[in-house]
Amino acid sequence: MDKIVALCKRRGFVFPSSEIYGGVGSTYDFGHYGVLLKSNVKNEWWHSMLQERDDIVAIDSAILQHPRVWEASGHLAGFTDPLVDCRACGQRFRADHLADLPCGRKPSKHPGETDECSLTESRDFNLMFETTIGPVKESGATAYLRPETAQGIFINFKNVLQFSRKKPPFGIAQVGKSFRNEITPGNFIFRTREFEQMEMEFFVPPAEAERWFEHWLSERERWYLELGIRPDHLRMRPHDPDELSHYASATSDVEYLFPIGWSELEGIANRGDFDLSRHAEFSGEKLEYFDQATGERYVPHVIEPAAGADRATLAFLVDAYDEEFVEREGAGEGERRTVLRLHPRLAPVKAAVLPLVNKDGQPELAHQVHRAVGALVQAEYDDGGAIGRRYRRQDEIGTPFCLTIDHQSIQDGTLTVRDRDSLSQERLPIEGVAEEIARRIKAPWKTPKQL
Ligand code: ATP
Repeated sequence: MDKIVALCKRRGFVFPSSEIYGGVGSTYDFGHYGVLLKSNVKNEWWHSMLQERDDIVAIDSAILQHPRVWEASGHLAGFTDPLVDCRACGQRFRADHLADLPCGRKPSKHPGETDECSLTESRDFNLMFETTIGPVKESGATAYLRPETAQGIFINFKNVLQFSRKKPPFGIAQVGKSFRNEITPGNFIFRTREFEQMEMEFFVPPAEAERWFEHWLSERERWYLELGIRPDHLRMRPHDPDELSHYASATSDVEYLFPIGWSELEGIANRGDFDLSRHAEFSGEKLEYFDQATGERYVPHVIEPAAGADRATLAFLVDAYDEEFVEREGAGEGERRTVLRLHPRLAPVKAAVLPLVNKDGQPELAHQVHRAVGALVQAEYDDGGAIGRRYRRQDEIGTPFCLTIDHQSIQDGTLTVRDRDSLSQERLPIEGVAEEIARRIKAPWKTPKQL
């Protein structure tokens, strides 16, 4: 993980937030390549939800919602983690994670392991961030930053049903920021207090819930695999009955083998009619579906695939990170290179256009090529430094193709296409190269990473 964090900083993917003020615990800012990468992750998710099928619609609900939303959802009463304080070191720990956390004084041990540790009894700590609506801090003005995007979907069920001309089975999808005052955030962007979720609530006739649950398990697994995650690093883990939330009849986690071990990437739950029934009870609105064909009225059941955009981005980065020994490109002895073998669709930059030298008409031609390629895909122009160093820089940000303009390009209108993974070089006509790159980005791809 240290190598990923270092690469992310070095290449401008992710920075610790408020760094010039000494940082603020476990919040991060995304730099240029991080923004592009995470946007691609979210776009792929939207693509799979909206473009590849026609039974899901989008929503973007507010982060601040009526406080009653969180009463109805159960978050106000029950969205808690068990917390213990240590009187000796003054640190706080999640009581159910003690075995994975370092002791505040002796980082080689876990909290409670040494004689000096003095842990309090565990107590429930609500993870929602409180804030105040309006200029006066008075009772009744308390609001919460949403801890999940899902509730914004449930409270819009009626609106969407009216305006989207959909009937169950159909889904509502949302991507957006959520906030949780995690007791022990950490492991880079794996667990932060502010993060982005990609959640979809799929409303179905109650009798079809099990079938749709199975459907979403396989769809979500397929999504990660198609985007290049190595199959032996991904698994589906059904929850044990004692792990299930009180409302869920079944939940499976999609887990990825992170450097910290197998950990949740996404949860897929069969939530029954809990959410719509609770919001109907608390709001007094009928949240149900009337089937005019059969005369049947029912509260749809809900299947929810809930993923994290930052956590998925981290998984794609970890899975893509590779180091290898290669012949030096150009001439001379070999060298180590670091390369992000990202799926071309996820790569922040799809093609870099590189003039071999900064003279003889090469920069002008390279700018032309950059404009043509950039009209179709995210492209970058780079003329800084030796060509080998420029290739390495593109390898580290995962650029699948480098397009090099050399003296021959000026004479015969061709360029070389260097492939990130195989390092092969191929000469292609400049005419039509933009379309060719766009075609290659869309082609099925499998990682060549060995381990
Ligand atoms: P965990 O057990 O890791 O705390 P959770 O089961 O509480 O996660 P859900 O409420 O199911 O998580 O949220 C769905 C997804 O949102 C998670 O699978 C994860 O990808 C993401 N997520 C949840 N909490 C965080 C966080 N603090 N930081 C980053 N991503 C998160």
